[in-house]
Amino acid sequence: MTSAPLLPAPVTVRVPAKVNLELLVGPRREDGYHHLATVFHAVSLYDDVTVSVADRYGVSVSGPLSTGVPLDGENIVMKAARLVESRFDVEPVQVDIRKGIPVAGGMAGGSADAAATLVGMDHLYDLGLDREELEELGAELGSDVPFLVSGGTAIGSGRGELLAPVLARGTYHWVFALGEEGLSTPAVYAECDRLRGDEDVPEPSANPALMAALRSGDPHELAPQLANDLQDAAISLRPALGEVLSAGMEFGALGGIVSGSGPTIAFLVEDNESGIDLAVALTASGAVRDVRRASGPVHGAHLIQRRVD
Ligand code: ATP
Repeated sequence: MTSAPLLPAPVTVRVPAKVNLELLVGPRREDGYHHLATVFHAVSLYDDVTVSVADRYGVSVSGPLSTGVPLDGENIVMKAARLVESRFDVEPVQVDIRKGIPVAGGMAGGSADAAATLVGMDHLYDLGLDREELEELGAELGSDVPFLVSGGTAIGSGRGELLAPVLARGTYHWVFALGEEGLSTPAVYAECDRLRGDEDVPEPSANPALMAALRSGDPHELAPQLANDLQDAAISLRPALGEVLSAGMEFGALGGIVSGSGPTIAFLVEDNESGIDLAVALTASGAVRDVRRASGPVHGAHLIQRRVD
């Protein structure tokens, strides 16, 4: 009697969101991207991405934060799967995303799913890729993807895809105020260019005072070093964000910053208890519809489950 060959069991990969502790935007490059100097920090808001062998490529999205995610080839996970297919001898995959990262929120949710798909296909098909190879594939999909493979805290240069590790001590506690509606990253960069006009923009480089603060592990030292060159542009497009920032500071945050291209606002707090207090105050004030608490740094995309039928 012959039996059908066993298919590899589906794998589930958990991948975090990122916040930029510093996002310095330099001049526009010839390819349209901007030179960046950024410090990425992975935080404990997660998407869970399950990758299974299938007859044809497919994607599904579930969870309360899934509105606005494309369910066709436009979904970046399909681009990630096709990239792997173009390099290795693999079957098509079905990718099921459970979203816990706000969509179009400046927290790199799409890039996170792409990183998770690369890591998931590596496990599913035993490709034996190391972290560097996964990051190189990720860089072909988007500037933030390599960081979501590795996680932790890291400096990003180039258009964000060239990573160098940062010595960061301790755990930082965050409260995220979610926007009612997403902001388009290209629109925020365009607004940043418009606000700058023909002002001379220097080549950016990561701030040594921020590095020292991260070595100290003290959130009071980190708070005044948080910086985002896209913040004015995000507030210009969405003026209510300025009010959310003021409310969070008034309610006791140590520091507040627009996350990436927004509209999520990241508040740094002293500890877990202060995070609970701030989340309650922001929600009760009506200034913010939805908040999430998280801590960082956390690991990048990692296997959490391999189903054995
Ligand atoms: P960026 O990485 O540019 O800062 P972001 O974090 O603000 O992006 P994402 O959640 O990555 O935003 O979504 C940006 C857009 O990408 C969405 O509006 C959506 O149309 C598209 N998209 C494609 N694939 C995905 C995905 N898997 N998850 C979320 N959005 C996706």
